[in-house]
Amino acid sequence: MDMTNQFQEYARLLIEVGLNVQKGQDLVIACPVECAWFARLCAAAAYDVGCREVVMNWRDDALNRMKYLRAADEVFDATPAWQAEFLNGYARKGAAYLSVSASDPENLKGVDPDRLVRQQRAGSKALADFHRLQMNNGFPWCVASIPIPSWAVKAFPGCGEAEAMEKLWGAIFEAVRVTGDGQAVSRWREHVDTLQKRVDALNSLNLERLHYTNSLGTDLTIRLPEGHVWSGGDGAAATGQRFVANIPTEEIFTAPLRDGVDGVVYASLPLVHDGNIIKGIRFTFRDGRIVEAQADEGEEQLKAAISLDEGAARLGEVALVPYDSPISNQRLLYYNTLFDENASCHLAFGQAYAECIRGGEKMSKEELLSAGLNDSITHVDFMVGTADLSIVGYTRDGREVPIFVNGNFAL
Ligand code: ZN
Ligand code: ZN
Repeated sequence: MDMTNQFQEYARLLIEVGLNVQKGQDLVIACPVECAWFARLCAAAAYDVGCREVVMNWRDDALNRMKYLRAADEVFDATPAWQAEFLNGYARKGAAYLSVSASDPENLKGVDPDRLVRQQRAGSKALADFHRLQMNNGFPWCVASIPIPSWAVKAFPGCGEAEAMEKLWGAIFEAVRVTGDGQAVSRWREHVDTLQKRVDALNSLNLERLHYTNSLGTDLTIRLPEGHVWSGGDGAAATGQRFVANIPTEEIFTAPLRDGVDGVVYASLPLVHDGNIIKGIRFTFRDGRIVEAQADEGEEQLKAAISLDEGAARLGEVALVPYDSPISNQRLLYYNTLFDENASCHLAFGQAYAECIRGGEKMSKEELLSAGLNDSITHVDFMVGTADLSIVGYTRDGREVPIFVNGNFAL
């Protein structure tokens, strides 16, 4: 099957809608080495719209795994200065950042979780500017995916490699609305407008809290900060440049009150985190903090992930995705959070997005904290949506409003 048209349409979509690359702007592409041919298509699309220079940040699963298993132990406590300057420098000058996320979901299985934690702590210190500017929309960024064989065979077990790759390409093209007719850019502008209508409806409610229940056993209350803002579709960088941070995206999200979460929540899908699969997650919250974390598989990795820092055991995002939505209806477990989180209502533990509170992008770290937003070096989405999920909203003027009934928007 010749998919040349789809590949080009997809690359154009990421450059023109995902990042909306401007004339004279630099572009950094982080991409697995297997996908070099696709990075070249994206680079060409960027130069077509006047990009100044495309700079590569190559990734490789095999070398990454080798490093975690075989590198000298002190390596995991530091990030080389040149690497920090590379990412921080481009972030400070507002370069566009494309991350092509494609990995074997179990690439780091068997790696010492302590090495993962230490590396993340060291990285967050060295890359503080990059992470802060990303969470505050200081530069336009976009996360997207293309298949690699080690991932495709996990999403389509029982298929040979070539068949799995073809199936995963098909699923991804459907999820990102690329058909090969050259119209993906205009389909996306429409999609972003549709999401915006839902955002407006939620913002007009001025909610005080949400109450989640379903048959898995979830019974969770999430209070929302005063002045919280629901967001979805596209966002604006500091310069006003519109961009879509995730392609695909189906979610409407905001920030919970960091000490206002109580009850129990059960994850509805497995989570791929740091090269490990974590299954059967359940959390108990008290005053915003996870006081009990369990998993049927990967509990050690889960506990390591929420112990990175104080904010890692608190929520930073609450996101709504209808059970009846395009990616969810594929009924495919992608083993890649970019897709799985857009098939399901989700929450994230760790850092909140500054845009989720009125005026947040201009606030300091301390101001965001005192407004009730969580602060952490991590941000990990996990899926909680089910076909029978109920979410009841309570407004600040005392009204009770059904937000989700039987897994879908009731608004
Ligand atoms: Zn989200
Ligand atoms: Zn998230």
